Amino acid sequence: MVGGVAGESARSPIHIDATGYTVTVALGALDLVGETVRQVAPAHRYAIITDDTVGALYGGRVSAQLGGAQLFSIPPGEEHKNRDNWAALTDQLLAGGFTRDTTIVALGGGVIGDLAGFVAATFMRGVPFVQIPTTLLAMIDASIGGKTGVDTPAGKNLVGAFHPPRAVVVDPQVLATLALTQLRGGLAEAVKHGAIADETYFITLREAADRLLGPPPADRDESYLLALIERSIRIKVGVVARDEREQGVRKILNFGHTVGHAIELLSGFAMTHGEAVAAGMVLESRAAEQVGIAEGGVTERLVETLEILGLPTARPDGPSPDAIMDVMRGDKKSRAGSIEYAIPVRIGSMAGATTGYGVRIDDTVMRTVLVPTTHRVSRGGDTRVDTREARA
Ligand code: NAD
Repeated sequence: MVGGVAGESARSPIHIDATGYTVTVALGALDLVGETVRQVAPAHRYAIITDDTVGALYGGRVSAQLGGAQLFSIPPGEEHKNRDNWAALTDQLLAGGFTRDTTIVALGGGVIGDLAGFVAATFMRGVPFVQIPTTLLAMIDASIGGKTGVDTPAGKNLVGAFHPPRAVVVDPQVLATLALTQLRGGLAEAVKHGAIADETYFITLREAADRLLGPPPADRDESYLLALIERSIRIKVGVVARDEREQGVRKILNFGHTVGHAIELLSGFAMTHGEAVAAGMVLESRAAEQVGIAEGGVTERLVETLEILGLPTARPDGPSPDAIMDVMRGDKKSRAGSIEYAIPVRIGSMAGATTGYGVRIDDTVMRTVLVPTTHRVSRGGDTRVDTREARA
């Protein structure tokens, strides 16, 4: 069992109050979508936004529950979370005669949640939407908290809006079709949750290698998976509830994301979001240790856990440290030209409680940490010395 989890039965639906909406986690919850949507956001018409992969797998099942609701689909992948697809989807809704009396259903991973959420935030000045996350990363992180948006060539998520969903429906059974690389990406965000808020949870995540990363789905421990999803959602919900608009404590959720977003973008999205966050946490933590903010040994503990889970622990070759720093400077998290980071003091506790959680680290130190080195790359239990990054 994942540590720190309340004693709900693994089989009964879990309802988590997320300030204004409920996150429901249940095996088979995909078949509750129609009922939930009609309850929390009844509308004249429903539009399901998805990607081609998820739409083919689950679109029909969701549409059937909503009177044959139309599916709007984009190709899968981060490179499609952009303004062109925001415009195309919006135009398709308008051409299809959708009006203000519409509810949008986001069916997919974090890319679809962010993009469909942004369409919902802006269509007719805002219509309701419901999140049906289908990756582990989206279930435990991206679908919660109301951030929506798209990437631009200058950086990730630079155009967007806060637009909370009316409900989030999580069915862990859909993870049976998810690639292991993507499952690992979700575990990177779970490691982040443990690192920022819960050391016991952090320690238990090593077990995910044995319990979740075997050949799917036969070797997957469903009780463990449910407990992990619940614990991570509760951590994220708890942080967001204290600071919905990211003025302070919500910034701790950005651990690993300042460096992570930059290397993800500069890899041309060859790295998944989760992989980039994993490497980003290690690099940000290493810099924090060097300047004496993080306690010695924090980085080593992160590396150890991420390696067990087959996640990258170093930056990819390619972009120079300066190129990475330039992208970080354009990130939403920078202030007056200075880059801000969310960094741990120790596992389970973040720095900056008295100064608003955005921590500055000298550029020279960060540049040194960003110099590519020969390092261990671990993926899927195969650990070897390499100078290249594990790729999706
Ligand atoms: P993703 O949405 O690209 O999904 C990954 C891949 O898995 C895609 O190819 C998709 O088609 C496929 N897929 C999804 N569900 C599947 C299933 N059940 N079975 C088979 N294939 C499936 O990536 P992601 O990792 O879910 O999300 C990453 C995005 O989330 C990034 O854009 C990131 O910026 C965003 N994000 C947002 C927030 C937030 O607070 N809004 C937080 C974290 C991450």
